[in-house]
Parts: sequence; C-alpha cells; structure tokens
Amino acid sequence: MIVIMSSDVIPDGPEVKQVLENVASYEGLMAQVHVVQGTTRALTEIYLIGQTLQVPDKPLSEFPGVERVVRISEKYKLIGRHQGEMGPLEMQYNGVDFEQGSFHVMAGLCAVDSQKHVEATFKALSQYGQVTTRMGAYKPRTSPYDFQGLGQECLPYVFELAGKHGIKMIAMEVLRDAHVEEIQRALELAGKPTGVMLQIGTRNAQNFELLKTAGQQQEFPVLVKRGMGITLEETLNACEYVAIQGNRRIVICLRGVKTHLGDPHRNFADFAHVPVVKRLTRLPVCVDPSHAIGRKEPAPDGITDMAHASAQGVIAGCEMLLVDVHPDPVRALCDGPQALLIEELPAFLEDCAIVREAYEKRCRLARKSMDAEERAETLVPRKARLAGSGRRQGSKNGRSHVRT
Ligand code: PEP
Ligand code: MN
Repeated sequence: MIVIMSSDVIPDGPEVKQVLENVASYEGLMAQVHVVQGTTRALTEIYLIGQTLQVPDKPLSEFPGVERVVRISEKYKLIGRHQGEMGPLEMQYNGVDFEQGSFHVMAGLCAVDSQKHVEATFKALSQYGQVTTRMGAYKPRTSPYDFQGLGQECLPYVFELAGKHGIKMIAMEVLRDAHVEEIQRALELAGKPTGVMLQIGTRNAQNFELLKTAGQQQEFPVLVKRGMGITLEETLNACEYVAIQGNRRIVICLRGVKTHLGDPHRNFADFAHVPVVKRLTRLPVCVDPSHAIGRKEPAPDGITDMAHASAQGVIAGCEMLLVDVHPDPVRALCDGPQALLIEELPAFLEDCAIVREAYEKRCRLARKSMDAEERAETLVPRKARLAGSGRRQGSKNGRSHVRT
C-alpha cells in the first residue's frame, strides 16, 4: 500500500507525521517514508509494508496532505504496471532521458586498464555522437588471479576525461557499499563533470544488502543485471529491492543465462524477454550482447554473432545496449576477445539505427491494426462478431488467443 502525499508536503512535515501516527496503531505493519524525485517535482510517499488488508484506504485518503492511496496486491508493487500506474517511470539523469521508449548505446571498456585506452574510447564515442558509456573500475572475476580492476585510483581521470568528451552517463559496476562512496567522493572532487549509473552485476543480483545500498542513495540511477542462474521473476524482485529503498531510476539488463545449451556462446541470450519485462514493469530494458555472446566472429552473412544478438535486443524494443569496445583488445586486461574495435563502432551504431527504425515501424504497424480492431469493435457488437467468425475467442481484441 502506498500513500502518496501532495507535492507541497515535506517528509518531516506534520501531514506525514499524522499518517504515521495513524498507521502505527495497526499491528504487523511497517511504514517507510521516501522522497521520489521526478523530472518536475519531488513527491513524498509512505510505503506500508506487511498486513495492509486491515487498513481501510478511504479515511487515509482524506487525511490532510494526502493526494491518493494506492493499494497494490500484485507482484512488483513499485516497478510493476498496475491499474492506475500504467505509464513508464520517469527516467532522467544528468540530461539523459532513458525511460521506456528511448534508445541509447552504452559502448565502452569492460574494464579500465589505462588512461590512454579511456581517452581513446571517449574520443571515439564523442566523434560518433554518443553521450553514454560503460567503464568498469571494480571487476568481479571468476579467478582470484585475474585482473580485478584498477579500483578508485582510476576514477579521477575517468571522470575528468568523460567530462572533456561530453560523456554524461557511465555505467560502472559496484561490488560493495564502499564502492558507491568512492564513486560519490571522486565525482564530487572532480566537480561532477559527468554522471554514473551504478551497475549491479549478474553475480550480485541477489546480494540484497548491496541492492538496498543502491536503492538508499538517490543520486545515481541503477542498472540491475539479470542473475545468470535465476528466473526473470527473481531478477524483477531484485529491482523491487532497489525501488523499495526509494530509488526508482532502475534499468533492468538482460545479459544471457548460464547453461551449456548456449554453447558456443558465453551465455544463452534471453533477449526474447525484453517485451515480457516491458509488459510486467515500467522500467527500461537494457541488453548486453557482449557478455551474452562473448565472441565476435562473423556468420556467412558477414554479420557477427554479437551484432546479430544486439539486433535481436533492439528489434524487441530494448531501450539500451551495453557493449564492450576497446581501442586495443589484444592488450585489454579483461574480455578483449568480445570487444568491438573502435573502427567497428560506426558500422555497429549504423546497424543499431537500422534495426531501431525497423522496430519503430513495427510499433506503428501494430498500433494501426490495434486501432482498426478497436474501430471494428465499436461498429459491430462484440457478441455478433464472435458468433459470426468463430475464429477468435477469449480476449478483448482476440489477438492473444488466435486459434490456428
Ligand atoms: C560486466 O558487464 O562487466 C559484467 C561483469 O557483466 P555480468 O555481470 O553480466 O557478467
Ligand atoms: Mn566483461
């Protein structure tokens, strides 16, 4: 249950106090006050968690300063699409708009390995009009003997060079709470020339304490990667963990799941789940073809597996692509073989634009047939049409129950 306060109500104001006093009289109920930052205004919300069935909404909604009370019984209370909460969640950060319906490519180094490589990458990105990127400073590696990332020592030059080349948002993985503080501090010291999207990697998709930390801070948006061996539902719950702490600027990233059925690819691409996530939630969806596929040799059509997988994400309507690129992959200290060369970047971006355009055309086509069906429904009574055709049954427009 969520009590949404009017925009002029502050979190420690008397209106919030009055609601909290009222709900304190119920047993088995916990209340959390959050400030949700939208593009134009900040809203104070009170989340009631636990046995909410005992709380009648009418008296609560009449309290001074209460805008409305939303009772949510479905899963994913905060990120989900529910009655009355159907639109995409507003997603803006440092001038980048990334809510459902937008499209960005976050190409960059899997791991920062030298200042020279960082600068060459940013230079190329700005040349091709890109304002978003990825750069790993903290790397979770399967072997403890592998390169673990340069850590906070690289942050000053990463942020300064990003600012110099007009980069506005860097996806950067964090492995523990201290990393968030280090990023905050380094960004502050550099004068905030750029911005960061905190990345929760596949291995930490069920590290609930880290998810809570990412949700408790409101400064950075959070990209949550699908856990490699968990269900989609479990990953959506990971996002809900972030949201319930007060941060709803969340992107969910599909990056393939671990199974040998995906061989010879690194993981088994799960990009058919893009529309599923968009139907269930109001979050933008990112696709990581680099870590899903892990190789870039071409098929006989001349297109690499990596580019094919990217296109599968884009044609399904993903809002973001997270892609490894490196100016000198042979010298990369992490995941060199799957990285695009800088010279390959313009063709890759052009390929994405072609597929994105095709996706937008598909959306227009789908809307046209939906409109035509709606018009038909108003002209001919539904009962008569069903009896007449005998072809479609079971849903409002018949589309989901076509019998073949
Ligand atoms: C990464 O994007 O650098 C990464 C480690 O990915 P994943 O968590 O999906 O393995
Ligand atoms: Mn990697």
